[in-house]
Amino acid sequence: MQNETPFQIALIIALVPFLVVRTYYRIKTRTFSKESFPKDNRVMLKILLFILALTFVVMIMWLINSDLMRWASFSLPGWIRWGGMILSLAATSLLFSVHQILGKSYSPKLEIKEKHNLVTTGPYRYVRHPMYSAIFCWTLGLVLIITNWTTIFLPLAFALYVILRLPKEEMMMIEKFGEEYKSYMNRTGRIIPNFFRKDK
Ligand code: SAH
Repeated sequence: MQNETPFQIALIIALVPFLVVRTYYRIKTRTFSKESFPKDNRVMLKILLFILALTFVVMIMWLINSDLMRWASFSLPGWIRWGGMILSLAATSLLFSVHQILGKSYSPKLEIKEKHNLVTTGPYRYVRHPMYSAIFCWTLGLVLIITNWTTIFLPLAFALYVILRLPKEEMMMIEKFGEEYKSYMNRTGRIIPNFFRKDK
């Protein structure tokens, strides 16, 4: 049986910077939308928020006393669990650079803001949805640190949510930016870089 204390500290290290970055930019970029576009899949969003809340409860219980969650734990070598912390921190730095470059065009909703710019630089040079990649990697990192079956629903639900959201988001961007976005789509991958990109 591994001593869980170092990993409990690793979880806090993985959680706090992400939540700080996210909260800071969420507040900083809050504006009112000009146009409204197809809304998110509300059912999936509710399921995701529910799973997120449950995962937080599990994490808090595990942080208070890891024995409370032992019934659903699985084992992984320590180096993979530390790898989970590094993955979460790398994902947080990606999230930070995405927010820096996206600026006020960021919104938790699908919307076009006033003076909305199409961003194609920084991480957006390689992928169209680096923020979703970052959040997915962050949730995966948390799973590796905690090693508890109850947490694997978080990356799964997030992936499903993104899969359903992407076509709507891209349709909205095409509606707004037309050919510019279409040619941007040809040059980039959706959530992982497109190594076989067609240069036009
Ligand atoms: N899907 C992107 C952005 C997530 S934030 C990512 O994963 O990085 C969601 C908002 O970002 C949407 O409301 C949309 O208006 C905006 N958006 C998405 N791609 C964008 C881009 N390349 N340039 C500017 N805004 C973008």
